[in-house]
Amino acid sequence: MLEEYQLRCVKCGRTFAADPWTIVCPHCGGLLEPVFRRRPLAISWPLFRTRRFGVWRYRELLPRVQPVTMGEGGTPLIQLGDNLWIKFEGSNPTGSFKDRGMTVAVSLARAAGVSSVICASTGNTSASMSAYASRAGMRSFVVLPKGKVARGKLAQAVLHGATIVEVDGPFDIALDVVMRVSGRESGLYPMNSINPWRLEGQKTLAFEIADEIGVPDWVVLPVGNAGNISAIWKGFREMRELGLIDRLPRMAGVQAEGASPIAKAFKEGMSEPLFTDEPETVATAIRIGRPVNWPKAFRALRESDGIMEVVSDEEIREAQLALGRMGVGVEPASAASYAGYRKLLERVISPDDRVVLVATGHALKDPDAFPFPEPVRASSVEEAVERIRGLSS
Ligand SMILES: *Cc1c(COP(=O)(O)O)cnc(C)c1O
Ligand SMILES: [Zn+2]
Repeated sequence: MLEEYQLRCVKCGRTFAADPWTIVCPHCGGLLEPVFRRRPLAISWPLFRTRRFGVWRYRELLPRVQPVTMGEGGTPLIQLGDNLWIKFEGSNPTGSFKDRGMTVAVSLARAAGVSSVICASTGNTSASMSAYASRAGMRSFVVLPKGKVARGKLAQAVLHGATIVEVDGPFDIALDVVMRVSGRESGLYPMNSINPWRLEGQKTLAFEIADEIGVPDWVVLPVGNAGNISAIWKGFREMRELGLIDRLPRMAGVQAEGASPIAKAFKEGMSEPLFTDEPETVATAIRIGRPVNWPKAFRALRESDGIMEVVSDEEIREAQLALGRMGVGVEPASAASYAGYRKLLERVISPDDRVVLVATGHALKDPDAFPFPEPVRASSVEEAVERIRGLSS
């Protein structure tokens, strides 16, 4: 099912036969990256465009398996200004970009005969995984940081039938649990972004941007475990290698002040993250202190002449409300991309640059993240009419 691919270690450079259960380098434990053995034949934009929107439109550039799909991808690219767009990943089936990766990784797991999947999650991975696992007839186990998962996301995992395990401590502890318990022996297949096949699905976000508006100058996105920035960069790199595009964007990653191991290190000119064991931010989706995909992220930043920015929770809140007033409802982590963009504009990003922000998840995921003002109250029809007339005149 993976004959088209090899897995290459980003640390030691060795290559391995592609197997769904080979998650990290058998030699050195480094991250693995799927690479094509030979150029996929006959691919072109006109071919892709003959198919319905979505991840599997690019099937020649994905594992050749029967898809477990719900029409993920093909999300709106909403224009916010002359040179500014936002890729609205909230319109995926479970409301976040995680569905792009999950459709591919769950399809592969099903093809490999897997019956149970597991993930650690700040929320959206568990929502997405449990939905796709249920659709594929698999059991799902989710390990969550206790008390730190937004209600909408938790509700989804419950609805889709996941077994929920809560641990004390941040996401990083939950991931530790998953890395210990998953594997061929237990039969539990790990669905975190350390799994290279998830990132293979997520790279399609880059394909869609390039197809719709060409290659932008910048792609700005929130960074948690740093899988998505790596996946999107892989998507652009691959398109150029395949002759589908002739230039590359610069990547701008944004982290919250209280959870910024990559951004802080990058600003200091360091080549490894400044890990933290007590990450904290209102943007719970990126509340991560030890991002596992950091080597891939640093490479994306280096190769793309990219940049990292840090934003405060206050700036995230303001950005979320500002986007809301433009009609775009995103969760706090996603607002970090707009907050970061506002800080980088003029200083690093020129007003003439064409910029795509990635809105990673839907506002409905986390309705507790913003304040609700007191509504106008009325105890009769007459009073309501009067109040509204007063307020609108
Ligand atoms: C998972 C997630 C992120 C972070 O993505 P990484 O690949 O972990 O960097 C950002 N925003 C939202 C809404 C997410 O669900
Ligand atoms: Zn290795």
